[in-house]
Amino acid sequence: MKVIKFGGSSLASAQQLEKVLNIVKSDPDRRFVVVSAPGKRNSEDTKVTDALIKYYKTSAANQDVTGIQNWIITRFHDMISELGLSEKLAQNIAFAIQELAKIEIEGNDFAYDAFLAAGEDNNAKLIAEYFQKNGLTARYVHPKQAGIIVTGEPGNASILPSSYDKLEELRDSDEILVIPGFFGVTAQGQICTFSRGGSDITGSIVAAGVKADLYENFTDVDGIFAAHPGVVKNPHSITELTYKEMRELAYAGFSVLHDEALIPAYRGRVPLVIKNTNNPSHPGTKIVTKHSGATFPVVGISGASDFVSINMSKYLMNKEVGFGRKVLQILEDLNIRFEHMPTGIDDMSIVLKAKQLTPIKEQEIIDQLTRKLEVDEVSIEKGLSIIMIVGENMKNHIGVMETAARALSQSNINLEMISQGSSELSIMFVIKTEQEEEAVRSLYQAFFGEK
Ligand code: ASP
Repeated sequence: MKVIKFGGSSLASAQQLEKVLNIVKSDPDRRFVVVSAPGKRNSEDTKVTDALIKYYKTSAANQDVTGIQNWIITRFHDMISELGLSEKLAQNIAFAIQELAKIEIEGNDFAYDAFLAAGEDNNAKLIAEYFQKNGLTARYVHPKQAGIIVTGEPGNASILPSSYDKLEELRDSDEILVIPGFFGVTAQGQICTFSRGGSDITGSIVAAGVKADLYENFTDVDGIFAAHPGVVKNPHSITELTYKEMRELAYAGFSVLHDEALIPAYRGRVPLVIKNTNNPSHPGTKIVTKHSGATFPVVGISGASDFVSINMSKYLMNKEVGFGRKVLQILEDLNIRFEHMPTGIDDMSIVLKAKQLTPIKEQEIIDQLTRKLEVDEVSIEKGLSIIMIVGENMKNHIGVMETAARALSQSNINLEMISQGSSELSIMFVIKTEQEEEAVRSLYQAFFGEK
């Protein structure tokens, strides 16, 4: 039994929906279909979710909503008429979109979420009818009916663990269930969305809930590439990744799948595959708990910018009990998360995301390190990037670091810091951001290029 999720670009037009229908039809195990709102038809187009945000803002400002309301209704109607779906459905969707304008916004924490969820909700209705018209026994199911009960944090819901039992009951259905992604319902019955891109999360939750054999996430690329295609020309797509490898790559900028979408499928031990709606015969990238066979030591190379490093040194630092704790306490008091902490005998660096540091916090850290901890030197270095080389199998290989270091030195890239966790899942380099792309290219060439 498979759960299949389609992203917005796969559902943007009648032509795309035809591909979706064929994909679902081609495999009777595809029993649960989770859908996003219609995405962009071309680069100038607007995603329905973004149009709903505009609709919400216009309504909140008490301005005339007719223009944006009609745009959204027309967006659905165009697909309905191209696919030859019913007038009743068209009216139903128009009504649902118009009704949003009646939502009380003042003092209503969930109003924004109710607007946003309408993209997925109405698209699921449309798709269910389209499937029925084309001979599939399909039914639309609202997340409330499905049992997707979430915490009441608007725009950032999390699933309640008790939802899974109710979701499991869906297994008994002999129809194809079409479930809108991106939102659930709180225990009090309020619509509450996950964070943006959250239909991936719904797919993962449903897959874990119904104990699916596979969660298929259909998007518009042939899976996850071994390096960013904007940096490396025609990188290959990775055949198999473990959840841990995916997490490492996602951390440093791989964004094919929503971060939080990995958790339910991982905990439920459901393998996940990322596939391309426009090229469904391509095997895509499979994400598994354990590699199925011997793999190459490195699976992917990623880079992410906007890091800063707080560098400090103090003579005989290693002799001082509690020094590290005191440094971290300063950060904790300022509500700052740290990402990495490479150390030497008498020096320590703390790498953070740049957006965590305001000029005031920066000054406070310097003051406290100098006055309270009496460090000899402290500096804050900006404009840093991290480069990650990821692969669970690195631990069984000798020479990965050598290959990487040689490639980087041949490209004249200075390594500011190096860090490798004890799990040997990844090696991280900190470098200057202006060298990030060059670093990724030279590492890709060293590990995957033609010899
Ligand atoms: N439609 C929502 C968004 O654009 C959720 C999703 O597509 O996954 O963020």
